[in-house]
Amino acid sequence: MLKSNRKIYLDYASATPVDLSVLRGMHKVLKENYANASSLHDLGVESKQILEKSRFEVANILGAHADEIVFTSGATESNNLAILGVLENSLQIFYPRGSRPVLREGRSGKKTEENFLLPHIVTTNIEHPSVLEVCKYLEKEKKAEVTYVSVEKNGIVDPQKIKQAIKENTILVSVMYANNEIGTIQPIAEIAKVIRYSNKNNPKQKIYFHTDATQAINYLPIKVEKLGIDLMSFNGGKIYGPKGVGALYLKRKTPINKILFGGSQEFKLRPGTENLAGIVGLADALKLTEKIKEKEIKRLSALHSYFMQKLLNSVEGLKINGDIENRLPNNLNVSIPKIPSDLLVVELSARGIFVSEKSACKSGDKAGSYVLSAINNPKLCKKNNSIRFSMGRQTKKEDIDDTVSALLEILKKLKRWYN
Ligand code: PMP
Repeated sequence: MLKSNRKIYLDYASATPVDLSVLRGMHKVLKENYANASSLHDLGVESKQILEKSRFEVANILGAHADEIVFTSGATESNNLAILGVLENSLQIFYPRGSRPVLREGRSGKKTEENFLLPHIVTTNIEHPSVLEVCKYLEKEKKAEVTYVSVEKNGIVDPQKIKQAIKENTILVSVMYANNEIGTIQPIAEIAKVIRYSNKNNPKQKIYFHTDATQAINYLPIKVEKLGIDLMSFNGGKIYGPKGVGALYLKRKTPINKILFGGSQEFKLRPGTENLAGIVGLADALKLTEKIKEKEIKRLSALHSYFMQKLLNSVEGLKINGDIENRLPNNLNVSIPKIPSDLLVVELSARGIFVSEKSACKSGDKAGSYVLSAINNPKLCKKNNSIRFSMGRQTKKEDIDDTVSALLEILKKLKRWYN
């Protein structure tokens, strides 16, 4: 048992605490800058100036132009806007006005769809549900054709497989920067190269490249030009900023339609009164994250090795999920044979230690992890034997020691039932 009231939070991939300096900035805005940024009076102008300053700061950190940053309600909305928005826009090319496919009566008298070419999207089989579910919807509605490229056993996609998946009607490639369950890092710059090459050879049908960088912002390079991407999603809740706010980097000249309808905020692309305090919080959190990135990567990498070795040395049969090298320094996803992970989460929680069994977004789902399934661990994943430890700014060595001790104590107890 931990000393009374001590809590160990190891679920930073699900949510991060809001940094105090970020909170102070947000508090000031909530208190003083309540005026609508679209109002013409002086208070409204002041709100607008704060909004644009935040946009400029976010753009500056990404190495982008301010008019390339669209604020949203989070990474889910950014991903939806990126995929649906680019897809909707492309329909104008695929079906110039009046030439949309129609149901025709076939020879058998049955109504069938005329043969037509749908816009094609390439993604991977381990994307976040806010990408996968959009793709599935588009397929179901016959608005797009989607190829889900399988990642390798280490949880990383081979850029050559992305290349092979590209077709004459491909309009968008969407590959996440780092995975939320197993923390594996995707070769974004290499995939961008593949797309650039393809665009050179087929200038008539340009392919746009979107990445969901939600889990990557804290630990990976995020200069958009260097990455070679056209669209990038992220949120405040994973970078020690507020939840319910996000952004989409949208490279100039990327053709996109809006997916929500209303006012003309955010370059007429995302209507609704701006969440000014949230946006200020997002910008401040991003600045701070960038400032301490190198130091945090070093500190967490050392903790990561220590944690991993300790687990491998003390827990029989434990397996690390995902590539050992190319993963976020804060993520350790492990499988422990035979022991149901929901039970482990509850037992650890009862001892003041908070972890996840898979991503928080899928925790209510009875099915196993589709990410673990994708890296070829169908047995492990069906039985849900995986635990995700995700560390962060407050994690110390003694937290790791206490977590491993608690885990061993729990396993000793549970093994009597599950052996
Ligand atoms: N993408 C990834 C990779 C995530 O980890 C998350 C959050 N779990 C999201 C998208 C969704 O973010 P939000 O909750 O801000 O919509």
